[in-house]
Amino acid sequence: MTQTNSINDYESARKYNLFSFANAPHKDYKPFHIDHANGIYVYDEKGKEYIDVSSQLVNVNIGFNNKNIIAAIQKQAERLAYIAPRHAFDEAGELSKLLIEEIAPKNMGKVLFTLGGSEANEFAIRFAKAFTGRDKILSKYESYHGSSYGASSLTGESDRASLFPTIPGFIKFPAPHLYGYDIKFKTEEEATKHFLARTEYQIQQEGPDTIAALFIESVTGSNGVYLYPKGYLKGLREITKKYGILLVCDEVMSGFLRSGDWFACQREDVEPDIITFAKGVNSAYAPLGGVLVSKEIGEYYAQNSFTAGLTYNTHPLGVAAALACIKEYKRLNVKEHVLELEPYLKQKLAELKAKHKSVGDVRSIGLFGAIEFSYSKDHKDVIRKNKNGEAFLGNLIPDLRNKYGLLTMGGGSTILVAPPLIITKEQIDEIFVRLDKAISEFADDLV
Ligand code: PMP
Repeated sequence: MTQTNSINDYESARKYNLFSFANAPHKDYKPFHIDHANGIYVYDEKGKEYIDVSSQLVNVNIGFNNKNIIAAIQKQAERLAYIAPRHAFDEAGELSKLLIEEIAPKNMGKVLFTLGGSEANEFAIRFAKAFTGRDKILSKYESYHGSSYGASSLTGESDRASLFPTIPGFIKFPAPHLYGYDIKFKTEEEATKHFLARTEYQIQQEGPDTIAALFIESVTGSNGVYLYPKGYLKGLREITKKYGILLVCDEVMSGFLRSGDWFACQREDVEPDIITFAKGVNSAYAPLGGVLVSKEIGEYYAQNSFTAGLTYNTHPLGVAAALACIKEYKRLNVKEHVLELEPYLKQKLAELKAKHKSVGDVRSIGLFGAIEFSYSKDHKDVIRKNKNGEAFLGNLIPDLRNKYGLLTMGGGSTILVAPPLIITKEQIDEIFVRLDKAISEFADDLV
């Protein structure tokens, strides 16, 4: 138990806030009341401690209450809290140089800063259409790219896409699953070949010279941490290049060491034309996202002005937080730490799958993992309802929190295991001790 805020206005929050991602009508919606946070721990209004297993939307990579980032934001607020984004300031110069010269793949030439991931994708759509002079955009089913209009049109989730008509010319291609379709693949290579051929066929049918870009998360994130079969991302790179289509890797969730490298596409040796990012760039200490574009696209903008923009593009507080956060990643050797813990997380997940009949599949890369609940060891037959016929995950997530002190995010029938990257081996053990008990209590008897 720790000291909590003296102002307690939960009822006003419930009465007046419209909550994003609320999974119930607001009259029934009881948001979890968070008071403060430190490291990998979050505390409620009574001071009770919880482990943040999913880094709040896979976001707070460096952990909470990092004093160096807080000091950098404070210093920036005092010196220069805001300037219009058409002006230059030193910290934005330093951050851009760091991203282009040190962090991003070698082919990147320029970076635009936004407020978050959705806007980064909006600008990527705009850049791709302007650069290619083409109009159509391809993206994958079972993907998430954001909630603004263009980003929602990119998103390949059937329940969200049905909220409104999406933008014409946004076309989806199938997710490359190894299982779950009627076709079963003997090897990853076989699956890769099959899905690449399907997507190439779709490109040919749509007319290659009408397609501006193909968007894909380098690792499918909120839809359940799907890793692509071997060679798939590289194959998409080759196909898009062949037809002059830009490859856009959405690294909003997978970026900034979550996967064990700065960007997950770097683990596959893939150089996209555009990378979108947000979240881990400053671990959400202030809103910031961005779009990295290749040298060729950078050259296009060297010859053409770019008249659009947002009042809060390149916001100094977000930029200062990003510079400080990247310095912390380096000072704390976070990349090496994630790579060291990667096999350990894989092992813990595999043990959970072997022990529990309700765990159908587990997946992970770096400290980006998922547990999928299923009636069989098969993606096809996932658990959607509990014993009372209610939403399985909608009940499991509060149960994990209230009874086992684990804060998790989930989607479909999957919960994400993506804790702050500063987590220790012992803290991972603690998460799995609790998950083991919770799964026995809340999931195994459904199977
Ligand atoms: N792309 C991906 C892959 C994401 O996971 C998200 C957010 N979860 C977004 C885009 C949208 O980012 P934001 O919520 O910051 O707009």
